Amino acid sequence: MAALLTARKALGLAVSSGKRCLSMLAELPETHQMLRQTCRDFAGRELAPIAAKLDKEHSYPAKQVRELGDMGVMAVEVPESLGGTGLDYLAYSLAVEEISRGCASTGVIVSVNNSLYLGPVLKYGTEEQKKLWITPFTTGEKVGCFALSEPGNGSDAGAASTMARQDGNQWVLNGTKAWITNSWDASAAVVFATTDKSLKHKGISAFLVPMPHPGLSLGKKEDKLGIRASSTANLILEDCRIPLENMLGERGMGFKIAMQTLDSGRIGIASQALGIAQAALDCAADYSLKRMAFGAPIGKLQAIQFKLADMAVAVEGARLLTWKAAVLKDSRKAYTKEAAMAKLAASEAATYISHQAIQVLGGMGYVTDMPAERHYRDARITEIYEGTSEIQRLVIANQVLKEYQT
Ligand SMILES: Cc1cc2nc3c(=O)[nH]c(=O)nc-3n(C[C@H](O)[C@H](O)[C@H](O)COP(=O)(O)OP(=O)(O)OC[C@H]3O[C@@H](n4cnc5c(N)ncnc54)[C@H](O)[C@@H]3O)c2cc1C
Repeated sequence: MAALLTARKALGLAVSSGKRCLSMLAELPETHQMLRQTCRDFAGRELAPIAAKLDKEHSYPAKQVRELGDMGVMAVEVPESLGGTGLDYLAYSLAVEEISRGCASTGVIVSVNNSLYLGPVLKYGTEEQKKLWITPFTTGEKVGCFALSEPGNGSDAGAASTMARQDGNQWVLNGTKAWITNSWDASAAVVFATTDKSLKHKGISAFLVPMPHPGLSLGKKEDKLGIRASSTANLILEDCRIPLENMLGERGMGFKIAMQTLDSGRIGIASQALGIAQAALDCAADYSLKRMAFGAPIGKLQAIQFKLADMAVAVEGARLLTWKAAVLKDSRKAYTKEAAMAKLAASEAATYISHQAIQVLGGMGYVTDMPAERHYRDARITEIYEGTSEIQRLVIANQVLKEYQT
């Protein structure tokens, strides 16, 4: 905590003296290095040793999330005046990578609270909404969730069919949101619903819904391939009434809010993927120095060395893209393309590296005695949520073509 607070103060100085620029990509400022080390130490000490148990038991790491709240990691970008840490998005990315290196489930819990829940409230909330819906979610005691997907539409989010009807001074929500991360552990949700389906995506608005709440129930906890310590479930809305003032942003702005939120959320997921990729590389490199075959460590074999080299290049390339997207966001420049590139590169690096890590470990890669199989399972989701790899390619291609048209 003390280290982070010091980092925050020092970062404030760095920002005001205009040092925040792309040169950060060559060498992180001292303050960011400090934050990174603090999160790395925490993940190594508190998360990595229990990650397999959390995964096996599908259990939410409540104590660790509270500790991350104390460290300032549950609300990295939220200003201090609202109870947050007041750091920048690069700092957030570094934190999510390091936390995910210890436990990818905890990484996504942190990422969803920061970028998918707090992010839109910070950007679009009124002062009153910010006090009510942000401050209690900065400490790790409470986490939020983001409910956009539905059983009938994921990639095609503009086709939302959850309805919001005005009745006097209340909104009445009806419909089912699907796959909602943190749902079983959440105390609030940003819910997207349409007030007029004929308007297609322009009919969608965003709403703040407390959890639990009458008319809101949860589906079964999904039994997932990976990130099993984070909960995922349907959020079922049946005549769920909320006050009119719980609309976030203006009527009809919901789709824009969702898309902008996903732009920044993708930097969080890229960072989660980096953490998984780095953990898989750590595991493979370490094993290759210890495992003997034909009278020498397997790390002496060129076949293994080439794998390690390709893995290291993949993670470092994806990291640079991720940092670049974060720095662009921090500099208030356009970053939609870079965030999609970062998410695409980092998620594909994570699946590739975790696949290769199993190969380096041989049989030991295939059993739960070693973490490689968990990294392999955890990596896979990063290519699916917050926009599949196919959707990232669409976003990137659209942006590239725009550049050639102008
Ligand atoms: C563990 C988990 C956690 C999640 N957490 C959340 C959450 O917190 N909040 C939330 O709102 N959602 C969440 N999601 C939902 C997630 O964002 C969607 O699953 C994802 O966007 C894909 O949507 P879909 O599953 O409906 O697949 P579909 O959209 O049906 O896609 C199926 C396939 O078709 C491809 N495809 C679809 N459209 C196109 C196109 N135009 N061009 C090319 N290919 C296309 C896709 O890439 C994919 O390969 C989560 C999902 C999972 C599995």
